[in-house]
Amino acid sequence: MYPLKLYGDIVMTEDCLFCKIISGKIPSNRVYEDDAVFAFLDIYPASEGHTLVTPIKHFSNFTDMNSEDVASLFEVARKITAAVEKAFSAEGSNIGINNGEAAGQEVPHVHVHVIPRKKGDGGRGIKSIVWTEPDTNNLEEIAEKIRRAL
Ligand code: 5GP
Ligand code: ZN
Repeated sequence: MYPLKLYGDIVMTEDCLFCKIISGKIPSNRVYEDDAVFAFLDIYPASEGHTLVTPIKHFSNFTDMNSEDVASLFEVARKITAAVEKAFSAEGSNIGINNGEAAGQEVPHVHVHVIPRKKGDGGRGIKSIVWTEPDTNNLEEIAEKIRRAL
């Protein structure tokens, strides 16, 4: 990967699709931009108004991001969610990140999907993504494992 400086100190990469979209090398339907965050329409939307909210800085994985970048990203995601719901008279929305290939991430540049929803649209909630029926008799052990990993 060749780092490419386009936004002051913000590093982008030449071989990333979303870095190319953010820099304008590849056209997109931009809906919002500030110093840290860029938002544009998903080219294959799950519902009308489906928007992708991305940090301008290239991070492949959500856990690589620092607190400040996460705060900016999610504050814009909140604003975009409100705008998208208003613009399409949506009654709700799914807001989420496919984090890593195993979770369905196809473009390795962090992005929050904002997908407006209406009652009766045929879609389901976030647990319809995966349901592996894990054991629920040991929830406290599981909580402890996560606490220890923090
Ligand atoms: P992921 O699976 O990585 O979470 O989501 C990638 C998203 O990017 C997909 O929903 C896909 O439709 C969208 N996408 C892929 N290529 C392009 C593109 O060239 N332009 C835009 N606007 N969206 C894209
Ligand atoms: Zn990128």
